[in-house]
Order: sequence, then C-alpha cells, then structure tokens
Amino acid sequence: MALTGIEIFKLLPKTNCRECGLPTCLAFAMNLSAGKIELSSCPYVSVEAKAKLAEEEVSPVRLVTIGVGAKAIKVGGETVMFRHEKRFENPPGFAILIIDTMDDVEVDAGLERFRQLQYERIGLILRPELTAIRCDSGDAQKYTGLVNKVKQNSDADIILMSSDPDVLSAGLRVCADRKPLIYAATPDNIDRVADLAKENSCPVTAKASGLEELIELTTKLIAAGVNDIILDPGSRTLRRAFEDQIFIRRAAIYKNFRPLSFPTIVLPCDMIDNPMMEAMIAFVFVAKYAGIIVLSDFQGETLFPLLLQRQGVYTDPQQPLMVPEGIYEIGEPDENSPVLLTSSWALTYLNLSSAIEAADIPVFLCVERIEEETDVMCWCHYCLRGAQPGKLSGEDTGQFIKKCGIEDRVKHRNLVIPGRAARFKAELEQALPEWEIIVGPEEAARIVGFLPGFAKKLKKLSET
Ligand code: SF4
Repeated sequence: MALTGIEIFKLLPKTNCRECGLPTCLAFAMNLSAGKIELSSCPYVSVEAKAKLAEEEVSPVRLVTIGVGAKAIKVGGETVMFRHEKRFENPPGFAILIIDTMDDVEVDAGLERFRQLQYERIGLILRPELTAIRCDSGDAQKYTGLVNKVKQNSDADIILMSSDPDVLSAGLRVCADRKPLIYAATPDNIDRVADLAKENSCPVTAKASGLEELIELTTKLIAAGVNDIILDPGSRTLRRAFEDQIFIRRAAIYKNFRPLSFPTIVLPCDMIDNPMMEAMIAFVFVAKYAGIIVLSDFQGETLFPLLLQRQGVYTDPQQPLMVPEGIYEIGEPDENSPVLLTSSWALTYLNLSSAIEAADIPVFLCVERIEEETDVMCWCHYCLRGAQPGKLSGEDTGQFIKKCGIEDRVKHRNLVIPGRAARFKAELEQALPEWEIIVGPEEAARIVGFLPGFAKKLKKLSET
C-alpha cells in the first residue's frame, strides 16, 4: 500500500461507525496502510475511493506467471519485507536442472523424481513446480529434443536456459504454448531475447553481472514493452546473493524502484557442488526472497524439508493453518472402528493423527471446520484453548456429525470427544440423541492407552 494512513483517511466516510471492528476511521486507515486489515472490512467506502485505493494497492513486486492453466506458477506480488508485517504472498517455485549433455538415463531419472516426490501435508499436496532445461551443447536440435521430452513426460512449468537466442527460439517453437520462462536476456542478446519474449508472450529473465548492469537491462526491457521480468543479478556466492536479494526487495518495497520491482531467480545449483550444502543455501533463499530456486537435483531427504519450510514461511501468520473439514481415515477403518472428533486447526489434527497412527488402531477422524481459535477441540493437555468458551455450540457440532456422512460409515453410534471439550458432552447428547458421547483422554499422547481397549469394546458390541 503506497498511500499513507492520512491519505487513506481522507478517502474514508469518517463516520466512526465501528463496523470494521476498529474504534475510528483513522484507526482503520492506519491499519490499512500497515497492511493489517483488508479494505473490504469497511462496507462504506465509496466506489471512487475503492478505485483510487485499488490503484495504489498494486503490489510493489510485480506478479509474474510462468506456465498455463491450473499448473501455472505465480511468483512475486509481494508487499512487505518481513512476514510478520502482513504475510508473504507467493511461495518460490523449486526447479530441477536438466542439461542437454546428460544421458537419457539421467534425464529420465530426474523426471521420475520430479513426478514422484510429492507429499500430502494437512490436506495439501507439497511438490516442486519447474524444470530448468539448460543448453550446454550449443546444439539447437539436441536441445529441442530434450525440451520436447520434458514437455511430453511431465506437467512441470518450464525454464528455457541458454544465452543463445537461436537456441531459445528453437526451444520456444516446441513449448511456447506452455508459456515458459526465457532465461536469459543479457547485455549481449537483449534485443533479440526481448523480441522472443514479446512474440511468444512469455516472461523473461534479465541476467546481469551485478546490480547496476541489472538495472540497465530491466530498464531496456521495460522500454521495449516487456513487463514480465525475473531478476538474476548474477551473484553466485551465498553472501553476495543474500545481499543482492535484500537490496532488490528493499528497492522495490521501500523505494518503489521500478527497474528492480520484479521477482528473482536464485541458482544454488551454480553455487556449490555438495547436495546437502546446496539445500542449505536454498533454505536461506526460501525465506529471503527468491521467486524461483533452481536445484541441481531433487532428493527426498532435502526436498521434503524445503517444501515444509516453504509452507511454513508462506503461511499467513494471522491465519492459522487449517485442514479441510471432513472424515479422515487413519489406517483402514471399517464399520466397527472408533469415531473421534476434532477441529480443523492443523496443529491439533497433526498431533492427534500422529497419536492414532502410533496406537495402530484404524479410526474415522471427523474434522469439523472452525473459525475461532477458542473453538479448537484441542487434544493437548498443556493448551488452554479447548477449555475456553468459543462460538461453537453442541448444536453446530451435532449438525456437522449428521451432515458429514459418518452415520453411513459405521454401524455403532459412539463418538469420542477430547477430554478438554468435556463441557460439550451434555449439549452434544441433546443434539445427537442417538449417539453415545464418550469423553476421551485430555491429550493426544494418551490415545495410545485409550484406543485399543475402546476398539475392543466396539468390536464386542458389534458381535452381540
Ligand atoms: S467501517 Fe468504515 S466508516 Fe465505519 S469506522 Fe470503520 S472505516 Fe470508518
């Protein structure tokens, strides 16, 4: 948000009606300026004021899209230096490097790892997004063969890497329909590469040997009508690259300096020859401030922690992670398996599902969506949230149990609620008269002791 709080205040109704949750329009303006509240929280902003504010709200780091359709990746669009100021918007894409001097076995193995290395985490699929296809041979025909192979055998977004415009042009003939990132425009080829980017409507990387040269390059590209630009300042040591990333982000956020107001690409693959150290370097740039990170290879032991770190850094600190509402099968439950209840708070879900897995008893876990932190049906002994009164009522939970479909999945009617939510028991019994509500342990760790006996009891019941 480029406008100051006072400038925003001048555009507001100034009625101090408090409907935005703040005591005055001035307080709202200050919070909006700091990115702590959304404009939509005030229902009384005029259409003209909205248009003016929307104009100013264009993010200081341009949003650039690579690829097409659902698999396209968006990078940039950032508005802050530090995550706690608001949030980071678009996670960096991870790319695997594939070179046209690799043999078929290496290429196939790399593509296979790209396809296989995907992880489900609290209802989300974590996976890499890009292949960076580099031409080292100088042979355009060989290069296009490789580009075609990658295109046919993966859904990855593509980075075409060469300093030779003829090679890039050949690559584009094969995959322009996938809107690849062209890497890269340099001082030696900028005119031809800018033309390729415009003709094919593809984003392009400006690659320089230093920040000053980078500014010259992007200024030329913008003047030529190319606006979807990714920045590579050319730094290939950790320290230099780190400094450049911070300089670029500060120039965009604090100075609105157009030549550097673009997302960046970082290449740990060119910085070191040790896969573990390469991953450590990548960790640094997930936090500060890469838009794309190119790795020489993907291995589960380094990619998984990187994906997790990325998920953590790019989670909105004001919006806790939630799992989707629904019924989760842990193990292979059947019609006699226990049914447990919890809420969509991701931490609670992770805690409880791990404990159930440790107990090795198949379970249906019903996860109810909550909006308020105080509604958490918490299975942590040390957490006070579950003990506080929230907005959630026994009636809401009763409705959820009826609608979620669990009644078609099990023969019995026994529902285990967390010990911390024991205050719900009477309300739930009223809302679900055909169910027996069982107050379970206060903390997930005790599930291991509770579940085997409870599962046995259900089995016996089914036999009578
Ligand atoms: S809702 Fe709008 S008009 Fe009302 S106090 Fe908040 S900013 Fe002012």
